[in-house]
Formats: sequence, C-alpha cells, structure tokens
Amino acid sequence: MKLAALGEVMVELAPQQGQGTAVPLLAQSYAGDTYNTSIYMARSGVAVSYATLLGDDPYSEQMLHSMAAEGIDTAAIEQLPGRCPGLYTIRNNADGERQFTYWRGESPARELFLDDARRERLASRLRQMDCLYLSGITLAIMAPQAREHLLAFLAEFRRGGGRVAFDSNYRPRLWGSARDAQQAVDAVLQQSDIALLTLEDEQLLWGDRTAGKCLERNGRYHLGELVLKRGPEPVLLQYDGTLSALEVPPVSDIVDTTGAGDAFNAGYLAARLCGGEPEAAVAAGNRCAAQVIRYRGAIIPAAQFTPCLEKGTGQGALARA
Ligand code: ADP
Repeated sequence: MKLAALGEVMVELAPQQGQGTAVPLLAQSYAGDTYNTSIYMARSGVAVSYATLLGDDPYSEQMLHSMAAEGIDTAAIEQLPGRCPGLYTIRNNADGERQFTYWRGESPARELFLDDARRERLASRLRQMDCLYLSGITLAIMAPQAREHLLAFLAEFRRGGGRVAFDSNYRPRLWGSARDAQQAVDAVLQQSDIALLTLEDEQLLWGDRTAGKCLERNGRYHLGELVLKRGPEPVLLQYDGTLSALEVPPVSDIVDTTGAGDAFNAGYLAARLCGGEPEAAVAAGNRCAAQVIRYRGAIIPAAQFTPCLEKGTGQGALARA
C-alpha cells in the first residue's frame, strides 16, 4: 500500500533551547503539516511519497536529501529553476507562547497542479498510489484555478479505486476569507474517504458549538470514516454507522503540542494502510502523537521515535476499491 502526501515543506528557523539573549541563535530545520505526517509514516515503515514543488537552491536540495534519508520517495517532486522554498520563524513571546512568522508568498509549492505539463507528470505518479493525503493548508496555498484541477484529479483518482484522506487544518491568515476556505474544504470533503479533523479548527471555520454539531454537519459527506481529534479529550470515530468515543491515554511531561495532529494522522493512516481497523488506527494515532508532544517542535529526532504500529496487523483494509 502506497500513500502520497501533497503540500508544502518550509525552512524552519526556531530559537535554540536555553538561549536567553534578545537576538537568539536560530536552529534551522524543515517542516510543514503534510510533510510532518509523511515523516512519521515513513518512520513507521509505510511507503510514502511526498508531492510538492521545490526550487533549485541549496535549501531545496537539502530538503530532498532529508526526505530521502527519512525513506520518503521524492520522485513526484519537481524543482523550479531560480526558485527557493518558503520560510518561517518561531519566536517565544514573553509569556512563553510561540509566535510564527511566514515568508511563503513565492513558494514554488503554490504552483502545484497549475501548469498543464507538470500537472500531467504529477498525475501519472499519483495514479500509482493507493491513497492520497492532503490538508486545508495544501488547499490554502494553491491558486483557485489549481484547486479546480486538483478536485478533478481527486474525482478521477477515486473512480480508479484510490482513497483520499483529508485534514482540514484551518489557518485563517492563509485564506482571503472564511467563505473561501469553507468552499474549498467542502469541495474536497466531497471527494474524501477519510476525514481527520480537529474540533478546534472545525469550530473556527464553521462555528460548530459542540462536537455533536460538528459530526452532524459533516454527516452530509459520504465519508467512509470520520475522526474528530480533541486534544486530550476522547477521539470521536464515526465508522460503519457507529460513533465511538475512544480514550486518549494520559501523557505526562508534555513539552510542546506543535504537530500533535500531524503525528496522530501519521499513526492513523499508517495503521489503516497496514490493514488495521479504524479503532486500532486511532490507538496508533494516539501513540504517535504522545511521543511527539513530549519533545519540542513538530519533528522529533528519529532516534527518539518508536514506530507506532502494533505487530500482526491485517491485510490492506484500505485496499483499492
Ligand atoms: P492539533 O495538533 O491538530 O490541534 P489536537 O490538539 O486535537 O490536534 O491533538 C491531536 C492528538 O494529539 C490527540 O488526538 C491526542 O492523540 C494527542 N494529544 C494532544 N494533546 C494531548 C494531551 N494533552 N494529552 C494527550 N494526548 C494529546
């Protein structure tokens, strides 16, 4: 079973731990929501391909090397001459809150699905996959016209038996208006099999007062499985006509919940691709997220990560229809 994740990887500059100076030393790494998920899936032994556009600068080259070192297939990535990837910095405010600043307006990833020839090359790679994974951030960075092409491709991919997994990951500042975001998210959910949503984002985007209202509203889509993440509160899983509330095991020593949802999605999708049932997949998602929130940053060192799949999972429950 093969999955391709679509989105943007950025250069990250974050203050090094223990720096108390006014101008802190910054440590450089790479991150992005769907990319973070890809890393933990690859570390869990699942075949993952990452689909994006990069530049031909040293940072893009290093990203490709990092992905290859993580075991992520980079064959679907094209490099645009003279371009360089998006960048963001993290600042720790006086009250300890993390503040993010982005420079991503000219990121090559914004052109995903835009150009005809490149789109056709990407589509031919993606057709070889069993499952595609994307997020609301993937949608937000794309031009409206490119989103139309993406939607048409998702419909074609599903007609061919492929599955689509989506996390709405709503970031208001990436959108012209909440209405634009709602329209794009709605269109993708109509082409999705698995929704991995976070209640907080759903409430921000749609104004759902309760988890029940959120599930009810999403009932209009033909989702095979709907997962609603709620931080430490039980994960709600709607599958096969049944709604279950699945406890999240308590985690001690939480350091930073950045990337918790991305890590959860990795555990969930990895388990499903390896034949685990949705309930077991939620447990794998919780195990994956529990590790990540005990470290600073969205991507924890490989040496600290334990693959989150249980031995002896079944055979391809997510197999192509
Ligand atoms: P996001 O990162 O998208 O905001 P959530 O905050 O809902 O997502 O967290 C995603 C998952 O991370 C949860 O379903 C749970 O598995 C884990 N998680 C998050 N916060 C905690 C916590 N305080 N204690 C234990 N697990 C947590």
